[in-house]
Amino acid sequence: MTEPMPHPLPSYLNPKDPGPWGIYLQQVDRVAPYLGPLTRWIETLKRPKRILIVDIPVELDNGQVAHFEGYRVQHNTSRGPGKGGVRYHQDVTLSEVMALSAWMSVKAAAVNLPFGGAKGGIRIDPRDYSQAELERITRRYTSEIGAIIGPNKDIPAPDVNTNAQTMAWMMDTYSMNEGMTATGVVTGKPVALGGSLGRVEATGRGVYVAACEAARECHIDIKGARVAVQGFGNVGGTAARLLHEAGAKVVAVYDHTGIVHNAHGLNTLALFDHVRTAGGVAGAPDSESLTPEEFWSLETEILIPAALEGQITQDNADLIHTKILVEGANGPTTPEADDILSSKGTMIVPDVVANAGGVTVSYFEWVQDFSSFFWTEQEINHRLEAMMRAAYSAMSGVAREHQVSLRTAAFIVACTRILEARQVRGLYP
Ligand code: NAD
Repeated sequence: MTEPMPHPLPSYLNPKDPGPWGIYLQQVDRVAPYLGPLTRWIETLKRPKRILIVDIPVELDNGQVAHFEGYRVQHNTSRGPGKGGVRYHQDVTLSEVMALSAWMSVKAAAVNLPFGGAKGGIRIDPRDYSQAELERITRRYTSEIGAIIGPNKDIPAPDVNTNAQTMAWMMDTYSMNEGMTATGVVTGKPVALGGSLGRVEATGRGVYVAACEAARECHIDIKGARVAVQGFGNVGGTAARLLHEAGAKVVAVYDHTGIVHNAHGLNTLALFDHVRTAGGVAGAPDSESLTPEEFWSLETEILIPAALEGQITQDNADLIHTKILVEGANGPTTPEADDILSSKGTMIVPDVVANAGGVTVSYFEWVQDFSSFFWTEQEINHRLEAMMRAAYSAMSGVAREHQVSLRTAAFIVACTRILEARQVRGLYP
């Protein structure tokens, strides 16, 4: 028996990466024992398929020429074209974009969407640039990555600091370069341009469905269940409203302006009105304010972090007394906090499934663009709820079978699907 061949890693793939890519690699190593013969292919998950780094030269409004660094990483396309957002942020790094692209592979596969994972970004603080400059930056970036994106190759979407307008510019640039109107090259577009109804609320609606499924599994009645939510924006606000409508008591809401609490339940519709006029939840009528420590210590059935990453850490995990934690945000729970909560018996519904409603409706948008036939909002919500329930059920079945957490189970489901596709496709050339 000869020794296996060593597999030297390219220099940019540091296996001891202390950043997001390193965290992702640890997660893959944790599921390896559950992949059976597919473990043979596991290295596929540890190396992005394609990394493109582009220079973006742009003439600024003052006549100077500035250069920006942009990325598009396609982590895996075994199950379908790449899918993932484009982030504009001054802290964007290749390690971060690689990890985010890998998590998109996992998220798409966990929900059984026929997509691989990709992500893009430009290292830029968009607040420093005019709308006209941002348009030129977006168009040049799109042209530079144009060779590797496309409705059948890789479909970008909005992420941090990008929006429907950014997608409209990307779609237009790609279409002009290709000499055709290609609406399906991006998702998250304005509805006037082939965007989907229901997209804005999709992630929050998915969080709501995941919370209901978890409650059912824990024999908790949603009616009367106490819910606390961090983040009252697109994701947290929608989830809170839907839970309130289903009879739950939203007892506390935490946003960037403060924390409001009412033990009998806040009126989420009135809270939306207050946020619209006051800019945040602080000072909402019929509520008292809490400190962050008091918020995390609240006894609840359901806690939904839906604001920022890294909010639940080893410093506050001990305070938390909730039966179910539904991760609306990406990465809100650190690995140390995850261990503390799991040892207390808290059920954690992981981000890769809990907040997958957005990418699911992005998938619906892409399907509608291909067929040029658009669905009603009711149809979209109905299909979204069915896909979220199926994803939850696949994850929880594997968790029971292997006696592992829902997070590990979601990774097992996703990595198995990706590597099965890899295996049956085989290697070519
Ligand atoms: P949003 O901008 O609409 O809302 C963010 C909310 O978080 C606001 O209520 C804001 O006040 C609150 N917030 C900001 N800083 C805070 C702080 N320091 N402390 C407490 N609250 C704070 O954003 P969103 O679209 O609802 O996204 C929320 C999270 O969900 C993000 O982590 C995002 O990456 C993730 N996510 C969003 C989607 C989507 O489709 N929108 C999809 C998947 C994941």
